[in-house]
Amino acid sequence: MRHAGRAVPPLARRVLIALIAIAPPALCCRSQSPSPPPLPAGPRPNVLLISIDSLRADRLRCYGHSRDTSPHIDALAAAGVRFERTMAVAPWTLPSHVSLLTGLHPREHDVNKSTSTLSPELPLLPTAFKQAGYRTGGIVSGPFMGRVFGFARGFDYYDDEIARMDEKRSHLEFATSQRLADKAIEWLRRYATASRPDRTETRPFFLFLHLWDVHYDYKPPPPYDRMFDPDYRGRANGVFRPWRSIFEGAPPGADRDVEHVRALYDGEVRYTDEHLGRVLDALNEMGVADSTIVCVTADHGDEFYEHGQGGHQRTLFDEVLRVPWIIRGPGVGGPRVATTPVSNIDIMPTLMELAGIPPPSEQLSGRSWAATVRGETAEATARPCFGETHYHWTAPATHTEGRLVSVELDGWKLIRRLDEPRFERLYDLRVDPGEQRDVAAANHDRAASLRKLLDEHDAKGPRYRAGDMSDPKTRSRLEELGYLQGEGVPMTTSPSSGPATSQMDGDPGS
Ligand SMILES: [Zn+2]
Repeated sequence: MRHAGRAVPPLARRVLIALIAIAPPALCCRSQSPSPPPLPAGPRPNVLLISIDSLRADRLRCYGHSRDTSPHIDALAAAGVRFERTMAVAPWTLPSHVSLLTGLHPREHDVNKSTSTLSPELPLLPTAFKQAGYRTGGIVSGPFMGRVFGFARGFDYYDDEIARMDEKRSHLEFATSQRLADKAIEWLRRYATASRPDRTETRPFFLFLHLWDVHYDYKPPPPYDRMFDPDYRGRANGVFRPWRSIFEGAPPGADRDVEHVRALYDGEVRYTDEHLGRVLDALNEMGVADSTIVCVTADHGDEFYEHGQGGHQRTLFDEVLRVPWIIRGPGVGGPRVATTPVSNIDIMPTLMELAGIPPPSEQLSGRSWAATVRGETAEATARPCFGETHYHWTAPATHTEGRLVSVELDGWKLIRRLDEPRFERLYDLRVDPGEQRDVAAANHDRAASLRKLLDEHDAKGPRYRAGDMSDPKTRSRLEELGYLQGEGVPMTTSPSSGPATSQMDGDPGS
């Protein structure tokens, strides 16, 4: 961790030393304390959890991007804690969001297919906040976040109007962030009043806001459509399917076109950031910014032909798994950058501990990083970060076969196909962060140790059983997005497609 801000306060340091002195050694490596943490004195903080669909961490300036895509998110990071390497546990919307809101891996919650619904037994983050006395609200956008999947449970208010899209408009075609931000601000004006003299609501709030526009198609409204590549005159236009067809079956050699698509994606990021900024401004105007924990993250990223294809869902490379995670607010130390790799299943237990809410009786797989966020401790030892998808690039259209799994630890990452055990790729992220060179053959012991972690993880099996979604309108929307047809991304397997693509070849002998 890089400590750019204030040192640990003397009182906190004394408390920390005392806690270390009395803690039994066996507890130091457990992800959850067996006893609830003490509730914080005074009023509970409000919590605003924002998930920006398909947002890669590396397209934000605070994560090193050269373009000015994210002034409001950057400002949050500059005043809070930014986790440098946060790995989503799945490369697509539905399982990753279930993991965000349960602290469980996809293997455990079992929501792994495009028609999977949440088990009614799954403990959810909004339920925990509601039971702790919070007013809970959810405002969501993408079709996978609709109530038909079971996400509304635990929310006093769940607005999935845009997710349901009953109107004859496409998720691919029109911008939603302005409308979503308007909805969030309206909800906040009604309920973010607990700390005001004229309050009409005595409870703190938990608001989950899911923003959609960074998801393909990449069609930002003016001026964001020309903001980052105004001189382009080629054919690429950010519409996902035509954009795919430009390159399908061919090596990703049209770099200028791909660069333009990246610029349109960046325009979507900037457009979304502007409306996120409006919500943050509203918190300021309402006088609750200082009493509200703001947490920004994403469910997964998107590929831009780093490995021969675009979109998401079908691989487990960094471009789809590495997401932002930034926290600012009361009790949050900073500015600070936490460098230990973490998982997005850690967000739920972290937010609960920051709000003083006891962890659920069931052990979560996510680990709380609240002590790190508060600046009370050095960073804990890294744990394995797992990834999983049932929709890898050679999986049949039924999506019932062929799981792709990954594990990352100590700068190494192993990717395996469980339906084809001979397929295995090992990457040394310390020297090859782009995951371009498979080094399994030269590192048998490393591959074996990571394979053992994957086997142990897989052997746990589901803790819950997902249901099945049959709503015809939702299925229609998912088909439109390419999620039910086995065509989420193009497959480029020609050996002539270059070294990156050759690593994607499903032939284990390649
Ligand atoms: Zn998504």
